Amino acid sequence: MGRRLIGEHGKIIAVRSWLGLSGAGTAHGIHGPAPCLRRFGEASIDARRSALQASAWPRPVACPFPQTGSNMLISRLFNLSSHDIAIDLGTVNTVIYLRDKGIVLNEASVVALELRDGVQRVRNVGNDAKLMMGKTPAGIQAVRPLRDGVIADLGVAEQMIKHFIIKATGGPTRFPRRPKIVICVPSGSTSVERRAIRDAGFNAGASEVFLIEEPMAAAIGAGLPVSDPTGAMVVDIGGGTTEVAILSLRGLAFSTSVRFGGDKMDEAIASFIRRKHNLMIGEMTAERVKHEIGAADAPPEGEGSRMRVKGRDLVSGRPVELEISEAEVAQAIAEPVGQIVRAVMTALENTAPELAADIVDRGIVLTGGGALLRRIDQVIAAASGLPVVVADDALMCVAMGAGQTLENQRLSGVLALS
Ligand code: ADP
Ligand code: MG
Repeated sequence: MGRRLIGEHGKIIAVRSWLGLSGAGTAHGIHGPAPCLRRFGEASIDARRSALQASAWPRPVACPFPQTGSNMLISRLFNLSSHDIAIDLGTVNTVIYLRDKGIVLNEASVVALELRDGVQRVRNVGNDAKLMMGKTPAGIQAVRPLRDGVIADLGVAEQMIKHFIIKATGGPTRFPRRPKIVICVPSGSTSVERRAIRDAGFNAGASEVFLIEEPMAAAIGAGLPVSDPTGAMVVDIGGGTTEVAILSLRGLAFSTSVRFGGDKMDEAIASFIRRKHNLMIGEMTAERVKHEIGAADAPPEGEGSRMRVKGRDLVSGRPVELEISEAEVAQAIAEPVGQIVRAVMTALENTAPELAADIVDRGIVLTGGGALLRRIDQVIAAASGLPVVVADDALMCVAMGAGQTLENQRLSGVLALS
């Protein structure tokens, strides 16, 4: 049975337990600290598989306070830092990692705003607000405050962060000490954007706010050896941006960020279907098409899945349904996929020779929701000639990595105050 806590406007939010929120609240519950690499790019690089496996990325160091019953009790009793949190403030999903607990919240980065008596108020936040996208009545709008990889609306973003922190921690009254918060920022974010994110953290009740660059967090979460003098390459394909970085000795040796990711793929699918079939579909439908039959390249002739899609016919104005194929979707998203591949190639061209040699041996690791697009690993492997692996639990890597900086002193060097 869930605990209950009061959200904005006195609304009661049901929260199940520390060990995972309700279905809508988190799809993942608690994640242990050591994800591993999952699948390989293409058949032609199979020969490198054994080399890659042999060089096995060291797994992240285990939490210094393993979650044994007695340790957790002591930590609770003395209120050690168990309420410190790490936030992956993504353009599509926000994931919160609570120290000693793991991932406790995974919700859509969406806020539903209602205009009442000339004043704009928050009506819903997270998955509840996402359900309203494209279906809101007059006076209500569902917005994504981080749409293009940066905070587009600071006030709304702040409300969203506060809401999620309360939902994840049980609220400010639970602990006498205010939490330390680690927040992930895109590597290309400006100092103004970073200050805005830090301010949002302080306004949400943090005692200290640390920032961590997303590719660094993604690499730690994927289990890459970020502290070693070895080059490691990570490509985090999110909703608004794709971050490509080469890391060594706890720093980013090179990083680039492009505003191409899952959102641009959704837009490309919607516009392709509009142009080719005169069918207008919504953002959510386009995303569903991508999840179900999306692929980074076309399937062999005569193969591939098909899917029925509903929308409004632009000629007759009536709601209609038609079938589209995997090959059509691959054609539709070719441009954003190409931009992601180009970003990877740019990073490789800018890599120092010694680091490049390490990457030849160890390959590229993909994280973020976009890494789950079918055959994206194969397309990047074919373009780069390098082994490519998709990290286990790709959607959780950034939060997992940021969370490990709270638990592992040796990783605290990757945090920045500004
Ligand atoms: P962000 O960090 O920007 O919030 P995420 O890493 O959470 O982004 O990834 C969200 C993106 O990943 C969305 O565009 C979503 O549609 C996409 N995504 C999630 N699962 C899949 C999948 N199975 N296939 C293709 N895209 C996916
Ligand atoms: Mg992300």
